[in-house]
Amino acid sequence: MKLYSTNNHRLSVDFETAVFNSMPLDKGLFMPAHIPALDPEFIAQIHEHTLPEIAFKVASALLAEVMPADDLKQIIDEAINFEAPLKTIGANTYVLELFHGPSLAFKDFGARFMSRVMAYFLKDNQKILDVLVATSGDTGGAVALGFLGVPNTRVTILYPKGKVSEIQELQLCTNGQNIHAIEVDGTFDDCQRLVKEAFADEALNDRLRLTSANSINISRLIPQTFYYFNAYAELKRLGKAGDVVFSVPSGNFGNIAAGLLAYKMGLPVKQFIAATNVNDSVPRYLETGVYETRPSVQTYANAMDVGAPSNWVRIMDLFDQDRDAILNILKGYRFTDEETLVGIKALDEQFGYVACPHTAIAWLAFQKYGQEDSGKYTGVFLSTAHACKFPDVFPENIRMKIEIPEQVKSLLAKEKSATAMKPDYEAFKNYLTTFY
Ligand SMILES: *Cc1c(COP(=O)(O)O)cnc(C)c1O
Repeated sequence: MKLYSTNNHRLSVDFETAVFNSMPLDKGLFMPAHIPALDPEFIAQIHEHTLPEIAFKVASALLAEVMPADDLKQIIDEAINFEAPLKTIGANTYVLELFHGPSLAFKDFGARFMSRVMAYFLKDNQKILDVLVATSGDTGGAVALGFLGVPNTRVTILYPKGKVSEIQELQLCTNGQNIHAIEVDGTFDDCQRLVKEAFADEALNDRLRLTSANSINISRLIPQTFYYFNAYAELKRLGKAGDVVFSVPSGNFGNIAAGLLAYKMGLPVKQFIAATNVNDSVPRYLETGVYETRPSVQTYANAMDVGAPSNWVRIMDLFDQDRDAILNILKGYRFTDEETLVGIKALDEQFGYVACPHTAIAWLAFQKYGQEDSGKYTGVFLSTAHACKFPDVFPENIRMKIEIPEQVKSLLAKEKSATAMKPDYEAFKNYLTTFY
């Protein structure tokens, strides 16, 4: 597989380069030069396959030349070792639960796959890979747990003191082994700045092999296609795979970009819905034709507080910048915090289902779509995180019903371990060079 940059279609790099660089120097995003179509025969029989089998087939279509089939299969079996179940929520509506991995968010799919792909490319005689991540919450946990115990890697996570939830903090700070957390006395932007300075520091890069594990890495996008195909397989088993509508809670638009990539690879989908909070750059673009980013606004669905969604350029590229082609397959709806709360309460009252705020927004968007399209179709809304990660959002009577998963119970018993630091680059550099 060769990849180009969305800012330079003549650039051509191999997969390994794209994985370790994360981003081209021209600050575009890497995209596959050729999007393979899956065998229609396979799609017709997809209901006979398990999630790991489907994942292997989809990944092979993209990565067959990159590594031997057995190696790819081993990476998938290790990375995708948890379920992505589909549950009924009312007539012809299903929730696709993507939070059954170790960090209780869909980002586990991307982070676990990426960590193993990186470890695979690290030759034994090369320097250890130092992964630097700045996090505002969910990404850090998925990356930490994704790399935990992966040979030849060390992960340093920077998070803003007092600005992540208790469970998120425990996921960052209780791992030990090759995972280190730095509690920065500052904001998320400070954390990000320290990481960027490290990447730009030539002397440091001579000494350490640095890489970033952020969400735009192409090796995080690919595994997110797997669960769309798997959901379709499950709908086929249920006899519900006629016209399928996916509603995706969207922030940086990586999740929905993966869905659209799956569609381009041959997954039969009638409609995608981009569900956002008030950070609605994409729904506004779909309405007006003007793409205008804005500073992000804080909401209950904080993993979607993104004013300038980084993966949007990938979606524009998938459709050759053709707005009409995008409008054919994609609708967008935005919701306020008040509406999100109404959605959370309605899901609880009508279906006894406790949804995290991101998930509730995806359900609301599907409801709104239903008001415009009275046809016959099956709806799947994606649940991107377990409700227990966002306890402060819920009214007490609903919060009481949240079941605490085993992973979290054992976390609560662990000791937090993090290095406190001022948002000062010299201190960070000193940490990286003396600590290791
Ligand atoms: C990251 C995240 C999102 C947004 O996903 P994108 O791929 O950035 O659109 C939605 N919900 C949760 C819980 C997340 O952690």
